[in-house]
Amino acid sequence: MSTNHFDIAIIGSGPAGFTAAIYASRANLKVVIFEGIQPGGQLTITTEVENYPGFEHGIMGPEMMEVFRKQAHRFGAVSRYEVINKVELSARPFTLFNEKGTAYTANAVIIATGATAKLLGATGESDYMGFGVSACATCDGFFFRDQDVFVMGGGDTAMEEANYLTRFAKSVTLVHRRDEFRASKIMVDRAKANPKVKFMLNSVVEEYVGTVVNNMKKLTHLRIKNTVTGEETLVPADGAFVAIGHQPNTSLFTGMIDMDDVGYIVTQGKSTYTNIPGVFACGDAQDSVYRQAITAAGSGCMAAIDAERWLEEQHS
Ligand code: NAP
Repeated sequence: MSTNHFDIAIIGSGPAGFTAAIYASRANLKVVIFEGIQPGGQLTITTEVENYPGFEHGIMGPEMMEVFRKQAHRFGAVSRYEVINKVELSARPFTLFNEKGTAYTANAVIIATGATAKLLGATGESDYMGFGVSACATCDGFFFRDQDVFVMGGGDTAMEEANYLTRFAKSVTLVHRRDEFRASKIMVDRAKANPKVKFMLNSVVEEYVGTVVNNMKKLTHLRIKNTVTGEETLVPADGAFVAIGHQPNTSLFTGMIDMDDVGYIVTQGKSTYTNIPGVFACGDAQDSVYRQAITAAGSGCMAAIDAERWLEEQHS
């Protein structure tokens, strides 16, 4: 077989992809991990991870992913720092193409492409990302001790993040574009009962405004528009957390793999089987509920075991 042929091709390199790689390569299978646009996945843009079991004192996200990668390579899995942008899953072996058109074949494919936090797209958002703007309160809340922060969104994530941020921040203002919430009543009630949480309803952030302090960009204000009156106000803000949901990175498989109405891959029962025999899915690409590194890793392990057993059945 060619050097571009593998027993298992894993697309994605977060906790799910690397865990699948560790298990599959340790089972003596020839495994490739296509690391994609963001090698190491979402954890490489976080700071400290304190809730991953086994790291008593926590570990920095990028360092943790480097450990995952080395552990997978130790058993023979290889990384390709390439983006797969086309797949052919209608015939076996499956064929995957990178952005240059190079083809790879694999007897089984594990989809571990994860999800991406949605952003507002307001002016200045990308400029101040990491300099006051964040898409993850759990990751960055700690940096806003005694400061005035804002959370944008009206779903459960926004409520949860607003409450969480009150552990650190002086005040948390939840900015939502309507006057009704998508969030469950219990989550809304909890946020309303929190004396540190204020609400700015019928409001949208139009612009992130900042300055430069000691050669570092720093968010200072938000320009917020009232969606009913059209009135705009410039509000002082130290931090702004975008909490408007996540988008699974699954568009590559649209029309081939069964998905729910927002694009999360549907897996069968308690397994990682998709509707295509030999194609498995794990991690945030198929999980809109838990979305944790540890749950992603757990499902990556499941995908490797499912793929190994499925490959064995093909030979028997
Ligand atoms: P979500 O339920 O889709 O809510 C997204 C929120 O962001 C909505 O309020 C939406 O406003 C707003 N939004 C979307 N695009 C916007 C834009 N461009 N500008 C301004 N606002 C925008 O997402 P989620 O809160 O991340 O929750 C996702 C799933 O995870 C849900 O099923 C949720 O129940 C679950 N979850 C559960 C928990 C928990 O139970 N502890 C915690 C977190 C998440 P509109 O309402 O106006 O559309």
